[in-house]
Amino acid sequence: MQTLNLLNGEWVAAESGETFTVTNPATDEPLADVPRCGALETTRAIASAQRAYTPWRKEPAATRERLLRQLAELMLRDREKLAQLMTREQGKPLAEARGEIDYAAGFIDWAAGEAPRLYGEMIPASSADKRLLVLRQPVGVTAAITPWNFPAAMITRKLGPALAAGCTMIIKPARQTPLTALAIGALTLEAGFPPGVVNLLTGDSTTITKALFDNPLVRKVSFTGSTEIGQLLIRQSAQHVTRLSLELGGHAPFIVFDDADLEAAITGAITTKYRNMGQTCICANRFFIHHSIHDTFVEMLQQAVSTLKVGPGWEEGVRIGPLIDDTAVIKVKDHIQDALNKGGKLCCGGSLVQPRDGLARRFFAPTIIQNMNREMLLFNEETFGPVAPIQAFRTEEEAVALANASPYGLAAYFYTRDASRLMRVAEALDYGIIGANDGAPSTPQAPFGGIKASGYGREGGRYVMHEYTDIKYVSWKL
Ligand code: NAP
Repeated sequence: MQTLNLLNGEWVAAESGETFTVTNPATDEPLADVPRCGALETTRAIASAQRAYTPWRKEPAATRERLLRQLAELMLRDREKLAQLMTREQGKPLAEARGEIDYAAGFIDWAAGEAPRLYGEMIPASSADKRLLVLRQPVGVTAAITPWNFPAAMITRKLGPALAAGCTMIIKPARQTPLTALAIGALTLEAGFPPGVVNLLTGDSTTITKALFDNPLVRKVSFTGSTEIGQLLIRQSAQHVTRLSLELGGHAPFIVFDDADLEAAITGAITTKYRNMGQTCICANRFFIHHSIHDTFVEMLQQAVSTLKVGPGWEEGVRIGPLIDDTAVIKVKDHIQDALNKGGKLCCGGSLVQPRDGLARRFFAPTIIQNMNREMLLFNEETFGPVAPIQAFRTEEEAVALANASPYGLAAYFYTRDASRLMRVAEALDYGIIGANDGAPSTPQAPFGGIKASGYGREGGRYVMHEYTDIKYVSWKL
């Protein structure tokens, strides 16, 4: 199947005619050829987004709201189709893919409600002959660069608020998962967004990104991906002082105190650790368990993990699909081997499994490793795989110090029934998102984002609107 890119409301191929192939990570079966666009098409997309910008920002907020609501409805209408496509190109189990479409449509719907609520402000002046006004205006042409692990939601949580604010956008999805993105692009046309308001390009990320940052018309780039690439983009953004939002890597701690509801902690651990095969930025990567309940927790977690069915995402009941590619498999293997070399004890998993013949060798057994320590790669780097490394602790201070011993600051989880401790620990953890007795904190109405090496800016909730608006101060002498 041959697909096209969305540019100025039209479906176009790369000028060169070049394409690349998107494959199913569970089977290596080719799914589609997509255009390999580059600088030329990016420059055209920027021009198209710039032309569309002035009329779009002048549309009444109610129009922007209506079109966004329409888009959210269309996504839900096509939920099953989009979810099937996502599972085939990304690998996640179908139930998770359906959940992601709901979540992704939720960001569009939430943003729709924010469009008519972009209030300005009037500040009391120091003299009777002045009025001090604060206006909030769209930043202009924006771009989104997104990762493969959430092919729909990482786009819509940028696209929704950008369009709601009156910005136009150029989207560059990850090379592994452009098909869900292109399907959402088609829905923006069906919803009735004017040509050029949404543009979608696939191709070489380095060339497209360079063309975006080289062009002063692009006023804002929102990026979700690894810290390493985020750092590259910070450097590129210096050229024209392009605004950035950076949703980068994470290395979430998961603390269980001795007074925790252990059943709830296990449910939370399974949700946050093994969702999307451990390939989420907020997935628990380091488990710190109070020594008095450590053995019970490990036993219960092992029991829960043994029920997780491994297989291709479209098969009934599957909870663990394939890892995204062979590089991901190598990284997970390396982290496990390194841990075992440094005193780790394998409780379960630890290797690839073959659910049946004809599948790619990317299915990794859900893994638990005891005796984690600070020397291990598992402690220091994002694993991005279904591996739960566990370390025992004795005091609250020790648990918080271990949890904070990371350059990352995206999400952290802890379980306790002590209300005072709950507030104390929530305040002490150096993370942007805290799951307190909750393994699934993300939701469209709440601010999502990190601190430290996990980036800056927020998505979700009303906070995201700041990312797509400039504040203008008007001092008015009467
Ligand atoms: P990635 O390698 O950083 O890629 C992310 C995006 O950047 C893709 O669109 C990719 O395009 C593009 N890219 C890659 N190299 C580039 C370069 N040199 N210049 C410009 N763009 C470039 O990350 P990933 O492997 O897709 O995603 C996993 C990472 O994302 C993890 O670290 C995860 O924690 C993080 N993440 C963070 C959040 C959050 O909200 N904080 C959410 C999800 C994921 P191509 O694929 O076309 O090369």
